[in-house]
Amino acid sequence: MDQVVILGSGPAGWTAAIYASRSLLSPVLITGNALGGQAATTSEIENYPGFPQGIGGMDLMQLMQEQAERLGTRVFFDEVTSVNLRQHPFQVQTYGATYEAGTLIIATGVAPRLLGVPGETELKGRGVSYCATCDGFFYKDKKVAVVGGGDSAVVEAIYLTRFASRVYLVHRRHELRAQKITQERALKNDKIELIWDSVVTEVLGPDRVTGVRLNNVKTGAESTLEVDGVFSYIGNLPNTQLFAGQLELDDAGYILTDRDRHTSVPGVYAAGDVQERTLKQVATAVGSGAMAAMEAEKFIAELEGHAYPARQG
Ligand SMILES: Cc1cc2nc3c(=O)[nH]c(=O)nc-3n(C[C@H](O)[C@H](O)[C@H](O)COP(=O)(O)OP(=O)(O)OC[C@H]3O[C@@H](n4cnc5c(N)ncnc54)[C@H](O)[C@@H]3O)c2cc1C
Repeated sequence: MDQVVILGSGPAGWTAAIYASRSLLSPVLITGNALGGQAATTSEIENYPGFPQGIGGMDLMQLMQEQAERLGTRVFFDEVTSVNLRQHPFQVQTYGATYEAGTLIIATGVAPRLLGVPGETELKGRGVSYCATCDGFFYKDKKVAVVGGGDSAVVEAIYLTRFASRVYLVHRRHELRAQKITQERALKNDKIELIWDSVVTEVLGPDRVTGVRLNNVKTGAESTLEVDGVFSYIGNLPNTQLFAGQLELDDAGYILTDRDRHTSVPGVYAAGDVQERTLKQVATAVGSGAMAAMEAEKFIAELEGHAYPARQG
C-alpha cells in the first residue's frame, strides 16, 4: 500500500507532494495527461509571490516538480481511469497500473468549458484552441478571436498580440471581469479590438477555422468575423467524473470539502481548483495542497496507531 497517492500535477498536486515528501510519506503522484496542469499553459504568472519579474507558467511548474522529486515524490506519467473509495486501502486504477492508497489527495483541477457551438469540436486543433501558450506561435501575422472577459481571456489576448496582427476580444457583456491592471493593458494595446455584448454562435470551417459567427445579445444582429483562430476562455468544469457517486459534490460538480480539505470520505482530501469555487489561482491551489497533505499525514499516523505529533508554530 502507498501511504499517499496524489492525483494531478498542477500546483495543488505538486505542493501536496512536497509536503507529503517532507513528512517522509514517499508519495506517489499521478500526473494525468496535462503535466503541470493549467498553470503550465499560461505564458506568464505575475501574481504568484516570490517572482518579482513574473515567471512563465511552465517554468514555475517545472520548478515545483523538481522540488517534489528531489524530496522523494515518485512520479508516474499516467492517467487515473477509475477509483474505488468504498474500500480501504482505496483502489486507484490507471491505464498502466493499480495502486492501493492509504490516503488519496485529489488535485485534478478543472477543464475548459466548451462554447458548445457548431464547428467547435470539429475544428479543435485546426484553429480552435484553449491554450494560447501552446498554440499562439502558429498565428504569426494572422487574425484571432479570444472569447471571454475574465482574467484568463484578457491575459491570453494580450499574449497573442506577440504573434497575431489583430486580436478580437469577444465578450458577452459590456464590461470585462479581469483585474483592473490587466484590463488597462488590454485597452491600451492597439492590436486588440473589443467586441462587446456578443457571443459566438458558430465556428466556421470547414477544414480550418476561417471565421466565427457572432450574435449581438443586445441588438440581436448577426455578423461574421473573419479569423484564423479562436481561443476560448469562458470558464471551467471540474474534473470530477471519476468521483461521482462516491464523494459528495456540489451542484456544479466541485468536490465538497471542509476547511481542512477533508472530503465526505475519511482519508480522501481534495485541493486546488477541483474544490475551489471562489478564487481559482496558483496561490490558493498551493495553500490547499499543503493543507490536504498535512491532513493525510494525520490520517496515516492515526491508522498506524501513532498520536499525531503536535507541531510548533
Ligand atoms: C490560461 C490560464 C491562465 C492562468 N493564469 C493564472 C495566473 O496568472 N495566476 C494564477 O495564480 N493562476 C492562473 N491561472 C489559474 C491556475 O492555473 C489554476 O488555478 C491552477 O493551475 C489550479 O491548480 P490545480 O493544481 O488545482 O489544478 P490544475 O492546474 O488544473 O491541474 C490539474 C491536474 O490534474 C490532472 N488530472 C486531471 N484528470 C486526471 C486524471 N484522471 N488522472 C490523473 N490526473 C488528472 C491534470 O493532468 C493536471 O495535471 C490561469 C489558468 C489558465 C487556464
